[in-house]
Amino acid sequence: MLESKAEAPLKFVPDQDDVVDILRSTGALRKGHFAYPNGSHSDEYLQVPLAMQHYQHAKVLTVGLSRLLRERTEIRTSIKDMSIVSPATGGLPVAYGICEALQAKKAYWAEREAPGQPYRMRPFLEPQPGEQIILTDDILHSGANLADLKTTLEGFGAIVIGIAVIVYQPTPRTHDFGALPLYYLAHLKASYYANADSCDLCRSGEPLTSVWL
Ligand SMILES: [Zn+2]
Repeated sequence: MLESKAEAPLKFVPDQDDVVDILRSTGALRKGHFAYPNGSHSDEYLQVPLAMQHYQHAKVLTVGLSRLLRERTEIRTSIKDMSIVSPATGGLPVAYGICEALQAKKAYWAEREAPGQPYRMRPFLEPQPGEQIILTDDILHSGANLADLKTTLEGFGAIVIGIAVIVYQPTPRTHDFGALPLYYLAHLKASYYANADSCDLCRSGEPLTSVWL
């Protein structure tokens, strides 16, 4: 039987290597010497939107992630009533891609009043009591945004039934979401130095790039 090649990329879930290839080829995952606002240093920097700015990559990643979600019966059978909600702008293309692929009811987001402040919903852009929600973002790192938004949404009576991210990159202090199902396409381990004094790259004089996010 002939298969349409044009549809081939949408017929599988990209594995870890596929995702890393996309991230590296788009500059979303880059090697170097980076300093973060909390003072830590790393030899890698990940910024998933650099991959998501390419629509076809975004499509492959979000369709792949949606297929993982669809494998769960509870989601597959109720998806038409579910919402996909993001805690950050980086999660917006993920939310809309998943919503389109799964034909979920709606996709929206929340914002903080200011960095470090609680989440707030835009007026009338609020979940209804009992609304089932899949939280989504491009990356799960500290988990702070997803955890804070989950609390906010539950304050409206919504029910968060899972978390879906492109990349799971936990740290020793990543928020524990307990039994809440987590879906991701790639699990990346980052190596961090707590500060410049403990950084091998600083010792060897590697040029340093400061990043704000
Ligand atoms: Zn360093």
